[in-house]
Amino acid sequence: MKVRVRYAPSPTGYLHIGNTRTALFNYLYAKKHGGDFVVRIEDTDIARNVLGGEESQLKHLKWLGIDYDESVDKVNPKYAPYRQLERIDIYKKYAQELVDRGLAYKCYCTEEELLAERGGLTEEKSSHIHYSRRCLKRTPEELRELEKSAEFTIRFKVPENKTYTFNDIVKGEVSFSSNDIGDWVIVKRNGIPTYNFAVVIDDHLMDITHVLRGEEHITNTPKQIGLYEAFGWVPPTFGHMTLIVKEDGKKLSKRDPNYVAFISQYEEMGYLPEALFNFISLLGWSPEGEEEILSKSEIIEKFDEKRLSKSPATFDKNKLTYINNRYIKELSIEKLVALCRPHLTKYHIIDGRSEEWINKLIELFHDRLSYGAEIVPLYQEFFEGEFGIDDEELTLITQDGVRETIEAFKNNLQNITEFTEEFIQTAIKSTGKEMKVKGKMLYMPVRIATTSKIHGPELPKVLELLGKEMVIENLDKTLSILTA
Ligand code: GLU
Repeated sequence: MKVRVRYAPSPTGYLHIGNTRTALFNYLYAKKHGGDFVVRIEDTDIARNVLGGEESQLKHLKWLGIDYDESVDKVNPKYAPYRQLERIDIYKKYAQELVDRGLAYKCYCTEEELLAERGGLTEEKSSHIHYSRRCLKRTPEELRELEKSAEFTIRFKVPENKTYTFNDIVKGEVSFSSNDIGDWVIVKRNGIPTYNFAVVIDDHLMDITHVLRGEEHITNTPKQIGLYEAFGWVPPTFGHMTLIVKEDGKKLSKRDPNYVAFISQYEEMGYLPEALFNFISLLGWSPEGEEEILSKSEIIEKFDEKRLSKSPATFDKNKLTYINNRYIKELSIEKLVALCRPHLTKYHIIDGRSEEWINKLIELFHDRLSYGAEIVPLYQEFFEGEFGIDDEELTLITQDGVRETIEAFKNNLQNITEFTEEFIQTAIKSTGKEMKVKGKMLYMPVRIATTSKIHGPELPKVLELLGKEMVIENLDKTLSILTA
């Protein structure tokens, strides 16, 4: 049987780290086993759907390279439609089948009656309080009367004393007792199916063989298995992936202000899709061997569902920036410029600058960048702000002979014909020869005197970008401090 897996987002929000991980592991599973990866839109929670949610989900899956085989924009007529709201008639038919077979029943209890039954608790807060089956016990006369009202839900009649056992890909054997489940609603008053009902019908009709999803769904699984049994269908194999937690062990929330949750934000910040793909693949899975920087095809090849973690996956921010930096280092200069330039433009940093200057500035930080937008703070750190020698720097440049070195450098710099990296390098070297200094005792004074920084990227490159006028001005400022 061909492997078919699905990612089934509700368009109640945008693609974030948590649901991307689900999508990615399903994708990897499909690709590893030569199967199909389907994206189905579970939009039945109408009030919670957000405008653009579906579009964002699909757009960012594509951006990440999580290429799906079927969805709303890649239709296989055998399985379409892929939006649940377009499948309402299908669910109605199956719900009716259960009613006709006495495996489900109409419930006419009003919200008020149900609330009273649960002692005032909402349904979510009272999963331990089971529905009283009042409507199952009504007399035919009562039912005839109630039918006129046409306001009803349909409940699944959960069999008693049954144990639902399944072999979870991640958790191993898991069992639930049917006695812990009340008769749950499969179709709401408005005729829209609930998640647990629609998901079973769809997974069955779409020939889904494996369901990999977040562990928060594990308590839904016995409800779903109950339905598979009622219909006489074979359930898919389930796998429930552990939570993603923060470094402090608490659950990662998409609303946590200290974490970037949404893929669109990573794109905006200049993260690379390949790096995110790599990083997210390691959230709850580890390849055999030490190497963690892996291309998409290597990840597919190495993916093994048996290596899905049984303990929570930690979202390590440093690891993400490390991985992204590794991928940025591999970029061609053209791609690097394309990644960084919009950020410089946004802050008017490159207004009126030549292409050459812009390219050189970006290239200067090639190895340091963790993400594209970081070009802005890096620029600000090394090229902006007041020239000011602090105490530590002053101690370094008031050492014996340093002032002479700085003077000699200024002299050599003034004599060069072109203010380019190569000529600046030559000026530094001749200063060293002249003053008989090298290494730190040469570069450190020159760097401080020209940039008022002790460390920084390659000095001749920085100076070329600063321009002759600015460099000479800074040298004069330093010399005036030293002569004062
Ligand atoms: N629509 C559900 C969700 O977004 C899908 C759960 C499932 O994969 O069954 O959580």
